[in-house]
Order: sequence, then C-alpha cells, then structure tokens
Amino acid sequence: MKLNELTAYELKQKLSKGEITSSEIVTSVFEQINKTEEKLHAYIRYSFESAIEQAKICDKKLRAKENHMPLLGIPIAIKDNICMEGEKATCGSKILENFVAPYDATVISKLKKAGAIFIGRTNMDEFAMGSSTENSYFGPTKNPWDVTRVPGGSSGGSAVAVASCESILSLGSETGGSVRQPASCCGVVGFKPTYGRVSRYGLVAFASSLDQIGSFARDVRDCALLMEMISGHDEFDSTTANVPVPKYTELLDRDIKGLKFGIPKEYFIEGVDAEVKEAILIAIKQLEILGAIPVEISLPHTQYCLPVYYIIAPCEASSNLARFDGVHYGYRSPNSPNLLEMYKNTRAEGFGKEVKRRIMIGTYALSSGYYDAYYVKALKVRTLIKRDFEEVFKKCDCIITPTSPTSAFKIGERVEDPVKMYLADIFTVSVNLAGVPAISVPCGWTKEKLPIGLQIIGKHYDEETIFRVAYAYEQSTNWHKQRPNI
Ligand code: GLN
Repeated sequence: MKLNELTAYELKQKLSKGEITSSEIVTSVFEQINKTEEKLHAYIRYSFESAIEQAKICDKKLRAKENHMPLLGIPIAIKDNICMEGEKATCGSKILENFVAPYDATVISKLKKAGAIFIGRTNMDEFAMGSSTENSYFGPTKNPWDVTRVPGGSSGGSAVAVASCESILSLGSETGGSVRQPASCCGVVGFKPTYGRVSRYGLVAFASSLDQIGSFARDVRDCALLMEMISGHDEFDSTTANVPVPKYTELLDRDIKGLKFGIPKEYFIEGVDAEVKEAILIAIKQLEILGAIPVEISLPHTQYCLPVYYIIAPCEASSNLARFDGVHYGYRSPNSPNLLEMYKNTRAEGFGKEVKRRIMIGTYALSSGYYDAYYVKALKVRTLIKRDFEEVFKKCDCIITPTSPTSAFKIGERVEDPVKMYLADIFTVSVNLAGVPAISVPCGWTKEKLPIGLQIIGKHYDEETIFRVAYAYEQSTNWHKQRPNI
C-alpha cells in the first residue's frame, strides 16, 4: 500500500521506527493530489512547497527522537472557514475571496503543537450553507465514488480529501450535519463533538448556538485521535466547557457487551431509501452479535427538527453575516455613489444565492411581528427536542440511526429545490439542536457502489461511548477498508 493510503496510526508507527520519513508521506499525498484532484476539486488551495518545508522540520525532530508529538509528520487538510494566521480563509465565498486571517484558530494552534502538517484548504458550501458542496463560489466538489454525484456538504472538500487519500486527516465544521452527512456520502468516518467540547475561536461563525468543529478520518481510531488533539476548554471561547478530555484512543478496545442502544422509530420513516434502511438494520444485527442490547425508543418531536433548524440557523446567520459589509472584511463593490449603495452592492455581488436566501429568511423571522411567531417558537420547540434526548438517554447509552436518508445524489439534482436539499439533513440537525455528540461510520454500499453511513449519537460529553461502539462495529466489518477507484 502507498503511504497516502495508510491511517495516521499506521504512519505514526512507521515514523517512530524510522522506516519512513514525513517528507515521503507528503510526497505520496501530493502524488495523489496531482493524479486525482483535477477530477475531484476537494481543495480550494494547497501547497506542496509549504507542506514539504513543514515535513523537513518534522523529520529533523523525528531524527532527534523528539517524537512525543502525537501527530508529528501527519498531513491534515483544513476546511476553508477555519482561520490560520497569514493565510486566506474564503469560506467558499466571493466576499472573502482575498481575506487573510490575522490569527490562528485554537484548533490550529493545538494541531501545530501536536506536530501536524498542513497541506491545504478544502472546498465547502459558501459559509457552510448547503448539503452538497455545490454552493461554493469556487465550483463544486465531486464524489470520488462517482464523479457525477455530490460528496455531501457543507464540508464536502474535507470528506473527499480523506476518502480519495489526498490527505490522511481533515477538519470540517458542523452546524446541522456538515461533517457527518458528507462522511456518509463519501464512505469515511466523520465526527461532531458535544457543543462546548471544541473551541470555535477562529471558526467563521454561521449559527453560533449550533456550530462545532469536527473531524474526518478513514477509521475510528484516527478520528478519535484527532478529536483528542483538538478538544478542551479554551479561554477564547466562553462556550467551551471546563471538563477533562479523556484519552479516547486508549478507551476504544473495551467490548460493548450489555451496552444499550436506542432505535428511534421516527428515524425509520417513509422517504428513507430502502437500501439505506436495509444496511442500517444489518448494522443493528451486528451490534447485537457484539453483545449490545437494542431498545426501542421514541423521540416524539423529530418531525419538527428540520423546520426548527431552518428557522434558528438562518436567524443566527443573518446576524452573524451582517459584518460582511464591504467595510470590515473582504470584498467591497467598486464605484458605488454613496455608503448605502456600497453596502447593498457589496452584499448583492459578494454573496451567492443560498447565502442570500438564508439571510432573507433569518431577517424575516427576526423582524418585529414575526419574531415571536417564528424565532421564539422555534427556540421553545428546540427545548422540547433537547428534552426528548434527555429522556431517552435514561434508557440507553447511545442511539443508532441512518446518517442520511439517501446515498449521494446527482450533481445539479437538488440545486433548484432548496427544500429537497434541506431534506438531506433530516437525521443530522436534531443532534446539533440538542448539542449532543455523534459519529457517522461506513456501514455498507448501495447496488451502485455508493457508501451508506451509520449514525451513532451519544450523551453530552460522552464521546467516549460513541467511539467505543463505533470502533467495535468497525473492527467487526470491512466497510472502512474499501477505497474508491478514481
Ligand atoms: N446542510 C445544513 C445547512 O445547509 C448544515 C450545514 C452545516 O452543518 N454547516 O445548513
């Protein structure tokens, strides 16, 4: 196997034995990029020169046996809405096309301390609004299993970079499923931590009460390792909790005998693809074989998750995106006769269609006369949704559902129908509304050889159990070992 096809864990072992160098890993990753990137467009930017320079520094440290850094010499790709000092962070938008971040996000500082090598910035739906990565100003990303299909979104570039072995690991962001849904579409592992587990300092805000940074990897161990590196309290983000971060990777190996997993009846409804349903039912059997106990549960407010999300997220977005006015950040429309026209033209020219739609929906729902009817009502229902989860977690240790109701759809198929696009998030947004953690792991393929994802949802701050169940499941299957043939 080529180095770019190995996991971070395997590469770490080889690096520490001196069998390989990180320069060789970087070279191998870029050979793949040169081979497949033109077809896939996972990246907005990448730099071999910068990556190899970082690798040389890592190799020096490795030779000096300073290899106590957990990700020393391991390549990682970063979604283009996470700030890195002195580098562009476009958020997939024209309005930030030339914006250069003045500081490192906390997750980036942590990854630097861990020794990771940054190879490039991944493509995304503009401002993380979308489920297909078609809303990028820089053009769509393609699914490596079938390039006529979307990779999911909004972190489609990060999912594809890992799935196609154009990177070993990657970071994405989640507001309503943007890590788990593309992970499911691309056949990789994607994780969204508890709200408050990972600092959002330096993540460009979409909807602040929902946003979290998440991780992509080709197996559960790598995913857990990456989460271990980026989690924890941060004085720069007051929403992070001051609770200890367990060593997830050391807790993976315990069995899951007697562990109770809930199966919510509201997640096996009409509209779920028959092949997806079948794959999930087989995965449930597999968990039973491993000794876990299924429990039938109900999350009665599930039907309101999508409407509640698509009120709260746009409301928060309309407020967060007010800062892009041609004065503070990024693009400014030239030749406007006065200040007001300049504001209008900048936003009209700088934002894409979906972002404008969200700003309008949000502004409408927050306006006087509608505020109580939409926004406040949505907040109240959000509380009921949260309580649903609190109730069921009295009866089970985790919840099993499909990640997405269908496999990857065709490029262009849903762009003209936003509601159809929003339906891709039907099983993921509840998790963000409740603030709980969840993972998507590969659990099968459709007849057309498109990946299917299994979602495992956990209790607040109980990432550990999710990783343990996901790992036990993964180790008893072979899904995660398959790679697309591009
Ligand atoms: N697809 C959802 C949306 O468009 C979720 C996006 C996200 O998680 N960033 O809002």
